[in-house]
Amino acid sequence: MQQIYDHTGDYLIIVLPTNNNYLNIKQLLLNFETTSQTYQLLDFDVYNQELQTISRNDLNVEMRKCYLCSSPAKLCARGKVHLVSELLCYIDNVIEKEIEQNVRVK
Ligand SMILES: [Zn+2]
Repeated sequence: MQQIYDHTGDYLIIVLPTNNNYLNIKQLLLNFETTSQTYQLLDFDVYNQELQTISRNDLNVEMRKCYLCSSPAKLCARGKVHLVSELLCYIDNVIEKEIEQNVRVK
């Protein structure tokens, strides 16, 4: 396991000892990402042994959606459709809600 910090964010790289379950692993991580608005902020990338990305397309799952308008996120990112401040505000709100819910539970 390796932790990396750079200008685009934090990364955690986990190398799993597996030979051929890449699609299953990607599907499990996609399921996890969709269990809550908070987990949707996470982005799990899976690579096979040839370091090729296992994509949503490999699973016939639709592209990741933009947090703000539900269009494909890549299109909004490439077109710089939204202000970074708008995205950060959305992310802050999601995290604040998560923290509030956890405080109420305890
Ligand atoms: Zn958008």
